[in-house]
Amino acid sequence: MYSAKDSDKYSKLSAQLIKEDVAKVKDKKVARAWIQQLQQVLNYHDWRYYVLNNAIIDDFKYDGLYKKLVVLEEAFPALRTADSPTQRVARGLTDDFNNVDHLIPMLSLDNSYNAEDLKDFEQRLQKLTEQTELKYCVEPKFDGGSIALIYENDMLVRAATRGNGISGDEITNNAKVIRSIPLRAEFSKYGIYKVELRGEVVIEKSIFKQLNVDRSKENETLIKAGKKPLELYKNARNTASGGLRAKNSEITAKRKMDAFIFQVGVAFNKDGKDMMARELKSHYANIEMLADLGFKVPQEEKLLSASIEEVAKFCQTWEDKRDDYHFEIDGMVVKLDDINLQEEVGATAHHPRWAIAYKFKAKQGKAKLYYVDYQIGRTGAVTPVAKICAIEYYDQIKDKAYTDIDKDTVLGLSLAGVEVKNISLHNEEFIAEKDIRVGDSVLVERAGDVIPYIVGSVAEERTGAEKTIEFPRTCLCDHQSALEKPEGESVWRCVYAACPFQLEESIIHFVSKGAMDIDGLGKDIVKKFMAEGLIQSIPDLYQLDYDAILQLEGWKEKSVNNLKKGIEQSKQQPLWRLLVGLGIRFIGGTTAKLLEKQVTHIFDFKGFTEEQLLAIPDIGPKVAQSVQAYFSDEKNLKNIKLLEDLGLNVSLQANMKNTTNLFEEKTFLFTGTLTTLKRDEAKQLVEENGGKNLGSVSKNLNYLVIGENAGSKLKKAQAISNITIISEQDFLELLQ
Ligand SMILES: [Zn+2]
Repeated sequence: MYSAKDSDKYSKLSAQLIKEDVAKVKDKKVARAWIQQLQQVLNYHDWRYYVLNNAIIDDFKYDGLYKKLVVLEEAFPALRTADSPTQRVARGLTDDFNNVDHLIPMLSLDNSYNAEDLKDFEQRLQKLTEQTELKYCVEPKFDGGSIALIYENDMLVRAATRGNGISGDEITNNAKVIRSIPLRAEFSKYGIYKVELRGEVVIEKSIFKQLNVDRSKENETLIKAGKKPLELYKNARNTASGGLRAKNSEITAKRKMDAFIFQVGVAFNKDGKDMMARELKSHYANIEMLADLGFKVPQEEKLLSASIEEVAKFCQTWEDKRDDYHFEIDGMVVKLDDINLQEEVGATAHHPRWAIAYKFKAKQGKAKLYYVDYQIGRTGAVTPVAKICAIEYYDQIKDKAYTDIDKDTVLGLSLAGVEVKNISLHNEEFIAEKDIRVGDSVLVERAGDVIPYIVGSVAEERTGAEKTIEFPRTCLCDHQSALEKPEGESVWRCVYAACPFQLEESIIHFVSKGAMDIDGLGKDIVKKFMAEGLIQSIPDLYQLDYDAILQLEGWKEKSVNNLKKGIEQSKQQPLWRLLVGLGIRFIGGTTAKLLEKQVTHIFDFKGFTEEQLLAIPDIGPKVAQSVQAYFSDEKNLKNIKLLEDLGLNVSLQANMKNTTNLFEEKTFLFTGTLTTLKRDEAKQLVEENGGKNLGSVSKNLNYLVIGENAGSKLKKAQAISNITIISEQDFLELLQ
């Protein structure tokens, strides 16, 4: 970023500027020169301090320079620029974050746990790319809050959280107070006009500790004043991701977060042309570029290697030293370095195929199980949930009735940076098999972001006071209906259709992010509305008594209007979201999208037999049976009809359909670097025109579309006579 010469220059300039009396400046020209110089030296010191962790100026001098810049900018406001270091100040309160779409989705990574898994990863890639020599880039998997940054014309224009991977919260003001994120970066020198970067916002371990020391001090004062003390921060990860989404950017600033940037998601040149895989060909080189532009990147922490054995060894070395590293990491990330190959292998519905997380081993801890609660799910399934606490806390609650315990203040088990208080016990058999009892010490394990689970009880620590767990035979709802367990299944269910627990869970599922994604309507609000008798079923959501809501505590005109807007907008959600929302068993987002394409109206499913459903690619017997059963039930159909009458979209929108049947029964495969289309766009064009994309060369292939530097796939295809080999241009002409 800065050369040794630059360093020398800015050191001298700093020393000189500190002596200047800026308050006396009257001349605009002089002011402009000084403002520019002050901005330059402050940016330089920020970089030394926040990116390199190697400051060459003390805080006092830094503050002195900063104040001079503030004074000058106040005297000459026209000279204040958007990328000035003074523009990093907290911007006060944000009411609601805008939800914004990422330029390209932020997919989560598939996991691996050992050298063997990495070997499999390599073999899959070798098969997909038909190449044996592959290069990998390895970096730490930082444990914090994910962030996406957009720079346009060299300026930071937008920052967003990961959200659901497709869209996240716009948090630009918060990102601006994170000093290792440059407000301006000279992408133009690489020919880049617009770029979306990926990174992780983290808090250094020592800073995290200090935050709690400070908070404890603050609490002493609060307690003395008779006020309620603040909760201590639980772990660095939640504190970082919470800080990113703080409504007040002053909170973000106080948490002193760092941002590691480790990926170029997508980049465009001045003409709007995608540069990925063309100008930007290597992931490793991209990181080097980001470092050069002043970003904090995993510089020392990364490895480029063509040997998966070396990659595995590197991962293991990091696993050994993770506790000594000054940031929390929960694994390593292994990425295929060649971006053209990344695009070639693409992604599944959930994960990119070209990257994998190497997860560090699970951490175990011991806790006390003090109670077993039962949750009734939306299908009536009864799940026992173990309530656990830290061993040292158990004495405080062991003699209390469960209802007398304030669950919020219970000290849970701290495991790999997360506080655990509730753990699923799955079902009656699980409890019996592991002989788990109330009052037991239990071993709890947690690997990465996997849900914690109970390994077993520590029988030798029993005192005789432990109680065996009696699984209930009736539902906990007011109806106390008998629970049923079909032959061969392990789960007890409440089959009472009007069971309030089930209804509540099904409404919560309906409004959730993965289903109808209704803005402003979450779990707690659904529970509140249920308790107030405002809703009893999904259709009730669309007939809410807003006047009554306005009377509820905490509701104001604005929040009621927002809710109304969110609910109104949800009526236009695509059909697949409704299919998920209805809670048909085994239907998640991916399956719903497959099903959606088979119909024009939701009631078309009435006519489908199990066999017809099974004929749909990727639909298995469980799903087929479940869909068939659901749409044969008169009650469900009535419910859907009601939703349709209330204005919900129940048909497939026109733009989702095939645009033509041009490529009907034709198969395509793209290889090499395409120059006009993106690989995804090309594949989409095939699908939109009724064709199918294949993953490899075989005699089932009709067209091989070759870009620049087409390799082994071209050779293979030339040997098969019925494959037509065409250029990208030919392909585009087919579409005319
Ligand atoms: Zn029930």
